[in-house]
Amino acid sequence: MAAHCHDCRHHAIVSTDRFPPDLPIPEISLRLRCSACGSKRVGVMMDMQAHYAWLTAETGWKMEVRPFRTMVEAVA
Ligand SMILES: [Zn+2]
Repeated sequence: MAAHCHDCRHHAIVSTDRFPPDLPIPEISLRLRCSACGSKRVGVMMDMQAHYAWLTAETGWKMEVRPFRTMVEAVA
């Protein structure tokens, strides 16, 4: 499937052979890491509408990078 990094816009095709076939897409995205910048905010391009709905529900992410980075800096 196609994956993309939310932080640096890196795109890549990743194999899902190493994941269980019944693993939900959001779970797969959590197991991916960007090979360009190391970010774990990786999205997968299969059912984007459902993915974004899940992402928004879980993290409040709405196409905005600044709030997330502010949160990370506060934790660090
Ligand atoms: Zn990246």
